[in-house]
Amino acid sequence: LSTSRIDRFIANYLNINRKQVRLLVAQQRVVIDGDIATRVDQLINKFSVIALDGQIIQNHSAHYLMLHKPVGVVCATKDQQHNTIIDLINEPYKHELHIVGRLDLNTSGLVLLTNDSRWSEALTDPKHKVEKHYLVTLANKLTTEYIGAFNDGMYFGFEDITTQPAKLTILDDYRAHVVLTEGKYHQIKRMFGRFRNPVVALHRQQVGNIMLPESLASGDYRPLSQDEILRAK
Ligand code: URA
Repeated sequence: LSTSRIDRFIANYLNINRKQVRLLVAQQRVVIDGDIATRVDQLINKFSVIALDGQIIQNHSAHYLMLHKPVGVVCATKDQQHNTIIDLINEPYKHELHIVGRLDLNTSGLVLLTNDSRWSEALTDPKHKVEKHYLVTLANKLTTEYIGAFNDGMYFGFEDITTQPAKLTILDDYRAHVVLTEGKYHQIKRMFGRFRNPVVALHRQQVGNIMLPESLASGDYRPLSQDEILRAK
């Protein structure tokens, strides 16, 4: 979480200089998270609650949501053509949220949103290899060959990378469960593309330890529980 000094924040807020802020602090007029500020170099972050002369001038709380993305809704904060997942959210803080791992327009399932960038960075950092679980429906029949190919990794020339081992489980002739630990552009579609097998439906069921519950209908969202927030990855 990025931090800044309290004197800088107050100077910006009141459009005064840091020397003038020093006086406000000395007069005990600045309160940070309920404690009177005693130093001008005290560090604050965007979730610090700041009061000046008894008036709250910053109070952002951290928000964490899961959303069941429908097909046809875009994972973006603005779009000319399509509804965005932000349009599905009815909360005063919705414009503060960012998306933790996007899904394609025609993919459905679990999307996480937060305004806590430290939390989202931990979940998306490739070195943590957080698992993303997908249910995939294919146009053509699956064969056991796919399992090894997904596990071995595939070379993508465009990005000059080889995909991390991915776990593929065949559910029936046309459906597979796939677990990725990364998220390259259109990754699942491109991996099945190697077998000339078009993906007809793609649904994300789980990210890390967070599962999309049956009870959350397409288009709906809910806040994450404390446990989901703390044990996400
Ligand atoms: N792979 C894809 O091809 N699309 C997604 O939305 C997610 C994974």
